[in-house]
This record gives sequence, structure tokens and C-alpha cells, in this order.
Amino acid sequence: MNTPTTTSAPTSAALDTQTQHDQHGHWPQAESVDDFRHNLAAVQARIQACCQRVGRDPASVRLLPVSKTKPEANLRLAYAAGCRQFGENKPQEAYRKWEEMADLTDLRWSVIGHLQTNKAKLVARFASEFQALDSLRVADALERRLQAEGRGLDVFVQVNTSGEASKYGLPPEEVSAFLQQLPAFSALRVRGLMTLAVLSAEAPRVRSCFTLLRELRERLRQDAPEGIALDELSMGMSGDYEIAIEEGATVVRVGQAIFGARATPDAYYWPSAEQGEVR
Ligand SMILES: *Cc1c(COP(=O)(O)O)cnc(C)c1O
Repeated sequence: MNTPTTTSAPTSAALDTQTQHDQHGHWPQAESVDDFRHNLAAVQARIQACCQRVGRDPASVRLLPVSKTKPEANLRLAYAAGCRQFGENKPQEAYRKWEEMADLTDLRWSVIGHLQTNKAKLVARFASEFQALDSLRVADALERRLQAEGRGLDVFVQVNTSGEASKYGLPPEEVSAFLQQLPAFSALRVRGLMTLAVLSAEAPRVRSCFTLLRELRERLRQDAPEGIALDELSMGMSGDYEIAIEEGATVVRVGQAIFGARATPDAYYWPSAEQGEVR
């Protein structure tokens, strides 16, 4: 074996991995258990190859299948193909699917999209994980609802690494002060940071968002409050998860490469993404 197994930060400067954003709108629909098995295997193979390039253990990367907009029947096919967790962007849609699929007791739900305080009640009831924490108001609403439910919740703090005004997430320079407040919320188990890169076909611009999150995490770790773990970096989606893994992602949120293209334009989820266009 001559594979390097260094645990230091990956030296990514020499890598020229491209985005797969040109696949946009072209991912084939998964319509059978075999389709899902095939897609999952293809993504896992890319994750493995990517880890090998930068000397990471593939077991250190969690693949979170993102099922938003897809109907229950498709989620059940994905479950049959081995998926045991789903990421959903909208709390009501996630809640409805959780109710519909309550018979699958080993399924975990991750809410990965912006939350309004009046939806905290829903999330507190069923979610295992919330990846888009970016305000004390939401932390407070979740804490109260979780206490009432007698539950805890894994959370990721969302960071705006692209500098786009319309993107959710805290500006990088505000994350440190925000983290200092979080030990007051005992039902929230802080696991790490989450980001969305700029939706661009230019790989270096995408990579710089991921590098920023990794470097921010390294800095924050030095003075993170007791009990605030920053082990996880949730970054990368269908078009850019390979670059994210090269930059240290421990969770990749992959929807279309597993489920097939969504009919809904990205602008519906991310106001800054122009319809059908990848800049
Ligand atoms: C939809 C979504 C993803 C997955 O995007 P795909 O292009 O389907 O892989 C990842 N993260 C967030 C926050 C999302 O809303």
C-alpha cells in the first residue's frame, strides 16, 4: 500500500476536480429499487475514489440522500435500496413524509433548509438532525419545543460562505460569537458547520467556499465552548460533492444524483440561484 494516510488537512491546491453542474436537469429519474441501488453505488464509488485521492477514510464521509419534492413511493424505493436517512428542505413536507412512513421505524430525518420559528414545533417532533441553524430565535424556539417533547436534536450551524446576500446562514465572522451562546440550549447537540457553495460551474469558486468553511472550523475549534463539538462539516451536493470531500466534508447532501432531476427550479429553494442557469 502506498496510499498516503496523513490526517492533516488535504492539500487540494493541485486538484482540478470539476463540478457536475452541467448535469443540471439531466440526472435520470430513479424509478425502481435497482435504479436506486445503481445510483447509490455510483455516488459511493465516486466518494471512495475521491477519498483515495486525498488520503481520507471513506467511512469518514456520510452520504445524506436528499428527497425533497420526491413522492413517498420513491422514498420507499430508496429505503428498499438501503437508505436509512433522508434530508428534506421544507419542514411541512418532511413532517408529512415522516407521518406517511411511520412504519419504517429505523428511518432518520434531517431538516436541511431554513426554519421559521413557527415551524420549530414540527421539527422538534420528528427530526433527528437540523442543519440550518443560523439565529438565536430559532435556537430558542427549538429548545422550548424539544424540552416539551422530551427530545434532543443534532444541529449544524449554517454559514454563508459565498457572500451572496440572498443566501441563508451566518456571515463567517459572526459564527464565533454565535457558538458562545449555544451551551445555553441543552436540547441542541451542536455537531458542526454546514454550507452551500456558490452554484457555479467554475470549480475554483466552488472550492473556495468549502475551503473557507474548513478553515473557519479549524479556527473556531480553538475556543469553542465546552460541549460544542465541531467535528462535522456538511458541504457538497450532487454537482459539487467531490470537491467538498477533497476539502474535508464529513456529510454530503446528495439529491438529484440519487433520485433524479427535480422539476422545481433551484431558485425555489435558493433565491440567488437563477432559474435553469448555472453561472
Ligand atoms: C436540495 C438541497 C441539496 C441537494 O441538492 P441536489 O442538487 O439535489 O444534490 C443539498 N443541500 C440543501 C440545503 C438542499 O436544499
